[in-house]
Amino acid sequence: MSRFWSPVVHTLSPYVPGEQPKRDGVVKLNTNENPYPPSPRVLAAVASAVERLRLYPDPRASHLRETIAAHYKVAPEEVFVGNGSDEVLAHTFQALLKHDAPLLFPDITYSFYPVYCGLYGIAHEEVPLDAEMRVQIADYRQPCSAILLSNPNAPTGSALPREAIAALLTEHPDQLVVVDEAYVDFGAESAVPLVARHDNLLVIQTFSKSRALAGLRVGFAIGQRPLIEALERVKDSFNSYPIDCLALAGAAAAIEDDAWFQVTRSRIMANRETLTRELAGLGFEVLPSQANFVFARHRSQGGADLAAALRQRGVLVRHFKRQRIENFLRITIGTEEECGRLIAELRGLV
Ligand code: PMP
Repeated sequence: MSRFWSPVVHTLSPYVPGEQPKRDGVVKLNTNENPYPPSPRVLAAVASAVERLRLYPDPRASHLRETIAAHYKVAPEEVFVGNGSDEVLAHTFQALLKHDAPLLFPDITYSFYPVYCGLYGIAHEEVPLDAEMRVQIADYRQPCSAILLSNPNAPTGSALPREAIAALLTEHPDQLVVVDEAYVDFGAESAVPLVARHDNLLVIQTFSKSRALAGLRVGFAIGQRPLIEALERVKDSFNSYPIDCLALAGAAAAIEDDAWFQVTRSRIMANRETLTRELAGLGFEVLPSQANFVFARHRSQGGADLAAALRQRGVLVRHFKRQRIENFLRITIGTEEECGRLIAELRGLV
């Protein structure tokens, strides 16, 4: 603490990121990265973009926006790109969330959402997940300024079908509905096809998970033009070059190599099914997941102890010290070998 701190800094409880280990040889199943490398075409595109480091990047990110737009069958003016979806979310909070009624989001969801509420002074209400730890859209009927859902939800992993999002949009025509689809490519339905019909929908996605580019920091939003224009206004008032030239080149190449994307995401989904079966065989309850992680609790062992014991054995998983989920572990789907190592270590523990 210091006398130089602004009043808002005193009130912030910042997000605590997952551990990034300094030593090699750790099986890292704690931050939902892709266990497979990005497409070789990404590496080639980044290498050739190095020649342009002397120059400022394109502030409008035109090529990347056109590439994303063509892939998702929207117009380039309906696409906004940012430095990771965390930054896209931050701009969304500043540009589009109003202060006349609370923002609604689930009580167990991505823990960055309340942090942004603190940073931007936005009131929020947390809506409890149901008994099966799922989002029920019927629970989102109270007065609100906007609704924010991670779909699939994190850290629980379950997804709502597109019709549920469509029903929510129709029920709340005057409220913004933001769908954070960080994990959508692992078996869930994207809400992007609803953008054409709903001016109150903003979909946010990332290159960090299914496209294996967490280190490059690229995320994007798709919505109708007035929403994208609001994000552009905030961006240009904050940093008109949010995406560097390596990220611009690498992300476009990742979208262009669809074959690589399909193969790696299918492998992750197959590994998820195997891991789910094996965890169940060891006495875990595993919530149905459409993400690149599973959320699981053991019938007799506590979550904190299990996470600590795994850590000692060189396997990192995520544990949240939060009521109702304190016995769960969030386990990122790794390679076949990494999942095998986790199961082998668990056999000695449970
Ligand atoms: N949304 C959700 C639900 C997430 O879990 C994450 C990753 N922790 C993000 C957004 C942010 O991802 P990134 O900034 O890497 O795009």
